[in-house]
Amino acid sequence: MDGQVGARTDETSAGFAESEARIAALLAAQKAAWASDVTPDHTTRDDRLARLDRMVDSWQDRFVAAISEDFGNRPAVVTTLTDIVPVRAAIRHARRQLRAWMRPQRVSLAWTGIPASAVILRQPLGVVGIVGPWNYPLNLVLSPLIGALAAGNRAMLKPSELTPAYSQALAHAIAETFAEDEVAVVTGGPDVAAAFTAAPFDHLVFTGSTAVGRKVAEAAAKNLTPVTLELGGKSPAILDLSAQFDKAVPRLVWGKLLNSGQTCVAPDYALVPRGRVAEFLSAVKAEVGRQYPGLPANPDYTSIISVRHFSRLIRLVEEARDTGAEAVELGGSHDPERRMFSPVALIGAPDETAVMCEEIFGPILPIVPYDTLDQAIAYINQRDRPLALYWFGEDKAAQERVLTGTIAGGVTVNDTILHLAQDDLPFGGVGASGYGAYHGEAGFLALSKEKPVLKQSAISGVKLLYPPYGRLADWMLKLLGRIG
Ligand code: NAD
Repeated sequence: MDGQVGARTDETSAGFAESEARIAALLAAQKAAWASDVTPDHTTRDDRLARLDRMVDSWQDRFVAAISEDFGNRPAVVTTLTDIVPVRAAIRHARRQLRAWMRPQRVSLAWTGIPASAVILRQPLGVVGIVGPWNYPLNLVLSPLIGALAAGNRAMLKPSELTPAYSQALAHAIAETFAEDEVAVVTGGPDVAAAFTAAPFDHLVFTGSTAVGRKVAEAAAKNLTPVTLELGGKSPAILDLSAQFDKAVPRLVWGKLLNSGQTCVAPDYALVPRGRVAEFLSAVKAEVGRQYPGLPANPDYTSIISVRHFSRLIRLVEEARDTGAEAVELGGSHDPERRMFSPVALIGAPDETAVMCEEIFGPILPIVPYDTLDQAIAYINQRDRPLALYWFGEDKAAQERVLTGTIAGGVTVNDTILHLAQDDLPFGGVGASGYGAYHGEAGFLALSKEKPVLKQSAISGVKLLYPPYGRLADWMLKLLGRIG
């Protein structure tokens, strides 16, 4: 089912009812299990993370093969680099930091509170629902799970229907590694996903498109379930007047063509000083030839996930060309049979075309010329807040103006994608690119309740304010007003 809920046959209705019942049963079982151990100790959490690590290790080859099958072609190096390695590194990071993250945080009190004491306890929320997209199908389901398990929660996972081979493999791997009341997988299309996000979880982590994110936020609001929304959008790359293209362009091309542009933080379009557009274009073309010679047959290149997504990319280029843009082929021709979409640059695409309004999510690079840095900054600020922003250049003052003059989910300066790969940098969008953040301690905290606890001492000054109120209370209030 390709992103649409069609009319249901009796058979699919029965299947859907079964999934809905399974979601309710799993959630009830996980909530009951959570109640029997509300705040699991370090040993329990560490053991869950260790099992997850062993699972990814022993299933690695099967996951890599399944994901390649789902895409048509996805190089093992890409899946290992972007799905397997970051997840295993994040598990190791969480296990190293877990004791420190779990430790109650001492808080100093105002003098009015002394001699009481206070701490903030970090406790699990309960059961977390995690819904993932297809583009990095392992990373974007298991990374939130790491935070959930570290924080002591139980979790239910709903991977994308567009990666069915991987989703089946994940369901088997999780069932083999965890009890169903610890971690469980639910598979299915948008209708199952809608039922999943309507269930009364204690928290939902959704990674996917902005349009579906809106529906998830609505469904969760009915249960007052808090949501972390990891969405998409158009992430700009600014090439400063001071940028050295021999350094900048290889990094930009790498980030744009990784997974054939099917990356939430891929640079969507490039803002280039007007006088340097021709130089930029020829550098990009040369670099595509260096990184991916012989397109579309190059085995290092990733297929587009589905015929529907491939046809959409064709339409984006056609519409831009029909409305006056120049389309420049950067590699070879396309291979529709294998859904290999060779990279295309677009110059002069009108603002109202789909390619300039929607997240591209493919190997098309619009080039937007600018005359002044203020103009480039204004271009970004007039649009939805991006998930990522990239700036290339040597001029530190210009860099500072861009960093302070724009809002984005995250930034890499003089490279692309890499801020996402650091466990100690919180990752998340802003505005239309989402809200909330995770990774490392941010992921642990997003799925914890920070519970403030004040412990009163044997002696308490508050007694001086008990009724009946008289002169002592007046005097105390004056004192508090002056020095409180
Ligand atoms: P999508 O929104 O179509 O689907 C994501 C998930 O939502 C799938 O599991 C799907 O089954 C489920 N879903 C579909 N309809 C639903 C509904 N009505 N209610 C609840 N869930 C529903 O996204 P996609 O095409 O899989 O992924 C691409 C998008 O995800 C892009 O916009 C990309 O930028 C974004 N993305 C964001 C991040 C991030 O970390 N911010 C990472 C990867 C992808």
